[in-house]
Amino acid sequence: VNPGAERRIDDVIPVLDQGFVVLRDYLGNDESVVSAARVSYDRGVGDEEDTRRLINFLMRERHTSPFEQCVLTFDIKAPIFVFRELVRHRTLRLNEISGRYAELAEEYYVPTLDRVRVQSKTNKQGSGEPVSPEAAEMFLDRTRDISSQAFDGYHHSLNQEVARELARITLPLNTYSRMRVQCDLHNLLHFTKLRTAQGAQWEIRQFAHAISSIIRESFPMTWDAFEEHVLEAVTLSKTERETLNTYLSSGTLTGIVKVDPVLQRIANKVRKTT
Ligand SMILES: Cc1cc2nc3c(=O)[nH]c(=O)nc-3n(C[C@H](O)[C@H](O)[C@H](O)COP(=O)(O)OP(=O)(O)OC[C@H]3O[C@@H](n4cnc5c(N)ncnc54)[C@H](O)[C@@H]3O)c2cc1C
Repeated sequence: VNPGAERRIDDVIPVLDQGFVVLRDYLGNDESVVSAARVSYDRGVGDEEDTRRLINFLMRERHTSPFEQCVLTFDIKAPIFVFRELVRHRTLRLNEISGRYAELAEEYYVPTLDRVRVQSKTNKQGSGEPVSPEAAEMFLDRTRDISSQAFDGYHHSLNQEVARELARITLPLNTYSRMRVQCDLHNLLHFTKLRTAQGAQWEIRQFAHAISSIIRESFPMTWDAFEEHVLEAVTLSKTERETLNTYLSSGTLTGIVKVDPVLQRIANKVRKTT
């Protein structure tokens, strides 16, 4: 049993104006990760400290397969443009509501006023500063009008007995859809890293944050190790490492490195002596 996951199961986390994330099912807990890793050398699970230490080691050394032994299953309601990003994660197992089979509910995403921003000057895919309040209001009014008209057209076509699979083709990307999403813990953490990053679209980031709050509660030791060694960690390029190594070798930093064990660890990594 996983007490953290049990606490969150069927708990609806609202996301955006009408979306949500719900944990529906799970497999495993932190101990399952350790138990899978210990199959390698035919030993069971130790005490809590042992479990924490081994999870930390596995995460640090990118020994990823034991994390794949755990699974989470979610129901997600999100606008189609968010799902279009989500489905790029090939390790997710998905089932989506069929607009050929069922009539789609008139539910579409309308951002809040402060979300309406100019094109970012530094990130070609992102948003920058807020637009003027007038421009934002106009955008939101137009979004509501166009979405509502698209649904009027959809309902009109259905009333004219046009098949659902064709009637739906003029619905916009902000229409809400639903999916059941299942993924193993390793790839879910990878998804979280990519989709909570500042460079990811704000809307998918809200779903990734909801998912990560469930992972954090269900696999607390794994989450701590992930935060330490992956999420909040940085990688240096070859050039960056060599430049830092030059400074360390010049002796300028010797005094401070000697007295600080964390700096010593960094220095050893940069010199590749560990
Ligand atoms: C900020 C951001 C912007 C993006 N912009 C765009 C864009 O403009 N256009 C666009 O098309 N995509 C875009 N993407 C999607 C991106 O290119 C990836 O497809 C997506 O992030 C999934 O990443 P992934 O392949 O690592 O994850 P997953 O598909 O979940 O795979 C996880 C890991 O499994 C392995 N794997 C899975 N399947 C295979 C396979 N068939 N072969 C080999 N290895 C595999 C890989 O190691 C992979 O890292 C963007 C993603 C982000 C985060």
